[in-house]
Amino acid sequence: MSNEVSFLEQVNQMFEKAARYTDHPRGLLTQIKMCNGVYAMEFPLQRDDGTIETIRAWRAEHSHHKLPTKGGIRYASNVNEDEVKALATLMTYKCAIVDVPFGGAKGGVKVSTREYSTSELQRITRRYTYELTRKNFIGPGIDVPAPDYGTGAREMSWILDTYNSLTHEPLNALACVTGKPVGQGGIRGRKEATGRGVFFGIREACSYEDDMAKLGLKTGLKGKRIIVQGLGNVGYHAAKFLEEGGCVIVGVGEYEGAIYKADGMKLEDIVAHRAGSGSILNFPGATNIETSKEVLTKDCDILVPAALEGQITEQNAPDIKARIIGEGANGPITAGADQILLDRGVLIIPDIYLNAGGVTVSYFEWLRNLSHVRFGRMNRRFETTTQENLLGAIESLTGKHMETDKRRAIIHGATEEDLVNSGLEETMVEAYTETRRIAREKDVDLRTAAFINAIDKVASAYVSMGIWP
Ligand code: NAD
Repeated sequence: MSNEVSFLEQVNQMFEKAARYTDHPRGLLTQIKMCNGVYAMEFPLQRDDGTIETIRAWRAEHSHHKLPTKGGIRYASNVNEDEVKALATLMTYKCAIVDVPFGGAKGGVKVSTREYSTSELQRITRRYTYELTRKNFIGPGIDVPAPDYGTGAREMSWILDTYNSLTHEPLNALACVTGKPVGQGGIRGRKEATGRGVFFGIREACSYEDDMAKLGLKTGLKGKRIIVQGLGNVGYHAAKFLEEGGCVIVGVGEYEGAIYKADGMKLEDIVAHRAGSGSILNFPGATNIETSKEVLTKDCDILVPAALEGQITEQNAPDIKARIIGEGANGPITAGADQILLDRGVLIIPDIYLNAGGVTVSYFEWLRNLSHVRFGRMNRRFETTTQENLLGAIESLTGKHMETDKRRAIIHGATEEDLVNSGLEETMVEAYTETRRIAREKDVDLRTAAFINAIDKVASAYVSMGIWP
């Protein structure tokens, strides 16, 4: 974090900025803003060398206006209660913006994954899950974790296994966590979902001619130069899909430093170089940059911070060259920096919208687990046969035959992955259209518009449930 106010305070400042454009009573706004509960825990870990260490961890549930609550678990050495509460708060607003019927939550375990062995991480994860289960902070209808910084499918499978061994209701236990491996109740497309959502959101933003003209840019992704900070789950997939969409990667930042090459680098070459040398540095033809923060101010069209919060502050905001910033990470721009960038006319696509692809596909995974059936299982063959019959009828009426490849593309019934990706695309496009419409109506930036949208939706949930008069 920067030396500005705390992450949670910044999120709340953004909330208050947006709340001024709504007419909800102050009491309701306060109820929406507050974090409902935090379970802070400390538990012992026996390290591989036999020594005992105490691990600090948290789970925050921000809002119960919809259940279950939902949010990732972060493993990081600098995670703290304020950060977990801030991230849980963002989750509530994020779910509302993409119409996913969950309240917000977030977990944090104060460990650096690089300093623990796999078996130590497994013991930590299982004990953390045990603590959550004992305190009723996990369950398919209670609170459903997912991956975040420092965690992935492996940790989710340990969580599921531990929860399974403790629960008395095994029928829906698979839905206690999302982001699981595909063979263990996970869903195809979840791993890529956040990065793919970042791509859909940026593509959508770049499709409006008047918005791009204001930035001095042409519409479309083709040829736009991007810098990505963090090549983890979100950053790697965002870079991959943006590159496939026509963008050129000119800069990449990781924890060991950054590289910049004005005429572009291929993502897979960077990944192969890092796998071979252990670092992104010294990439052929690129300039090494000492810290990943420094690459943020290099020349590009689109900047995608996808590592951690507090990366663009009042100090470096005046030097940012990008005309568009797509917030892959949560909270990468501090409140002070946000204003500086807006004053400079930068288009900021905010985290509470842009990285919502992960929770959207987690919602699909949760639905699949509760329905106990793979999406597409009932209709795929039926669709294929219907389309085949239709095409056959057209061919016999016209006397013409379609090439095999084209025929295959037309008759192909939707697989689970097709449905997941199309549901994600629909969600991201719809949410962008709605956020942009509010931004124009209220004459505000996209972040404020997204907050207004979230506040209105959460407020109406409270009112419709009779919780608020
Ligand atoms: P991850 O652990 O998969 O990747 C993070 C990457 O950032 C790692 O490669 C790490 O080495 C790198 N990194 C660490 N310190 C860095 C630094 N100082 N500069 C540059 N890179 C650095 O995590 P992730 O899941 O990709 O999460 C990244 C961000 O996206 C977080 O803010 C997270 O909250 C947010 N997010 C993640 C998801 C998800 O589905 N995983 C969903 C929404 C938001």
